[in-house]
Amino acid sequence: MISVILLAAGSGKRMKLDKPKQFMMINNKPLISYALETFQKSKADEIVIVTNEDNVSLCKDIVNKYHFTKVKDVIVGGNERYDSVYNGLSAVNGRDDDIVLIHDSARANISLEVISSVIEEAGRSGAAIPAVPVKDTIKVVIDGVVCDTPLRSTLYQVQTPQGFRYNAIRSAYDKMHLSNDTSITDDSMVMEKYGKLKVKVVEGDYDNIKVTTPEDVSRITELLS
Ligand code: C5P
Repeated sequence: MISVILLAAGSGKRMKLDKPKQFMMINNKPLISYALETFQKSKADEIVIVTNEDNVSLCKDIVNKYHFTKVKDVIVGGNERYDSVYNGLSAVNGRDDDIVLIHDSARANISLEVISSVIEEAGRSGAAIPAVPVKDTIKVVIDGVVCDTPLRSTLYQVQTPQGFRYNAIRSAYDKMHLSNDTSITDDSMVMEKYGKLKVKVVEGDYDNIKVTTPEDVSRITELLS
């Protein structure tokens, strides 16, 4: 069984819109429908959408309108991304060694190729994330002053979907939850800090962008057209 947790509970503050970015219309379709369409075509067996209380019925309308038959449930998320993932982990049917994929709905241009690579590697090693090498030099800056320049050849930009064996990511998330750690920004980090498996990297896609700020809208419109 392959389950997908599709995260759509963000407020989209950085987009400066009146509704969360995952519901903005791009080429006449809501942004969230693009990732749903690709997962519907993928090897995934079921999809759980995690959203805000106010948008549960909107999500259900989208699921019905576009016939996303793999969507098994639409549930309410939490204050932080990791809270939404935690709720999603309780809602999927997958258990034990089943694979769970965790995806940001804001990454609307996800390809079937990247999804397949993550599923394959997660099936083999238990933990896999897509990533691309960074092109720019990255600096560590504190209070406006450069403190360090990490070696560029070791730096990657990571994306979603991130894929794991259910029992391995579930127990890592349970430990994180108990520790009240608020530093978590992706699921791999939960596995790295609290889990037992090494996270393998598969080839991502520079076009698998996360719509975050208003400047990303023209780029995603072009990519999805
Ligand atoms: O805010 P950011 O762009 O990093 O969010 C990444 C993804 O996580 C988005 O798809 C967003 O909807 C989701 N999210 C969530 N619950 C939160 C915060 C973000 O599902 N509390």
